[in-house]
Amino acid sequence: MRAMMLEKIGAPLVFREIPRPTLKPGQVLVRISACAVCRTDLHVVDGELPNPKLPLIPGHEIIGRVEALGESADRFNPGARVGIPWLGWTCGECNYCRSGRENLCDRARFTGYTIDGGYAEFTVADARFCFPIPDAFDDTSAAPLLCAGLIGYRALRKTGDAHRLGLYGFGAAAHIIAQVARFQGRQVFAFTRPGDFARREFARKLGVVWAGGSDETPPVELDAAIIFAPAGALVPVALRAVSKGGTVVCGGIHMSDIPSFPYRDLWEERVICSVANLTRRDGEEFLDIAARIPVQTATQTFALEQANEALRQLRNGDLMGAAVLTIS
Ligand SMILES: [Zn+2]
Ligand SMILES: [Zn+2]
Repeated sequence: MRAMMLEKIGAPLVFREIPRPTLKPGQVLVRISACAVCRTDLHVVDGELPNPKLPLIPGHEIIGRVEALGESADRFNPGARVGIPWLGWTCGECNYCRSGRENLCDRARFTGYTIDGGYAEFTVADARFCFPIPDAFDDTSAAPLLCAGLIGYRALRKTGDAHRLGLYGFGAAAHIIAQVARFQGRQVFAFTRPGDFARREFARKLGVVWAGGSDETPPVELDAAIIFAPAGALVPVALRAVSKGGTVVCGGIHMSDIPSFPYRDLWEERVICSVANLTRRDGEEFLDIAARIPVQTATQTFALEQANEALRQLRNGDLMGAAVLTIS
């Protein structure tokens, strides 16, 4: 099969013809049709996340069809359309797993990081961690839901019932979560890089009530903010934009250092928290709500062999919405 592989940290992915992965008990073999490109893939390629599997097939927003079933993997029929997310396996035994927090599992394995992912024609996945994909979405538009949508949704849940919600960084995750937040009756305030007027226009088209630069003060105090951009400098900025008791959620897996800031910016019960990974419950809940809205994902498609170009455009901030590799 064809695959784009990370063989050396910091180097471009290389195209390889390799054997199909072999199926173990409990796994399904999936013929991949689409795989979205996530900022986390950049963090893996750049070596900002420790100890990836090497060589590695990146990609954890996978849509495909079940080609073959491993022993006792009877959750899906052959031909079923499935989504494969970042959370690829958990132990089921540690304190986190046993308390409904499998996203924090001590021994978790992650798709496209510690196990091979979706920049390829085929992959294998533990059937228990795959999701059925609602019919409301075609393969390309469904792919970004698997991480940008799903982990974005976990971040949104952490804002509780915040009515005025700020989103810092208006990329793949924010453009999906803005739609969910609006559906829930919230007001969304979009923050882009200073000078990125095209992205503000994109945000306004999705119904945000205000769009401005991250260096601007919103017209009203926010109840909560989610930071999707990997820039630690935005944490004190967002804290100053939220009202008393407000929450600032850091939605990414990696962020540059957070500069020091006066305690008075945190005072009055403001909260900073991070979001790590996902649980299967997050996935089920999010895919259900995404289909009811239904979420419209903006995508830019690339052939599998163009994965490096997709990563380059994501790095440069050239994409509106999500890059998706389409695999025939
Ligand atoms: Zn565990
Ligand atoms: Zn991701």
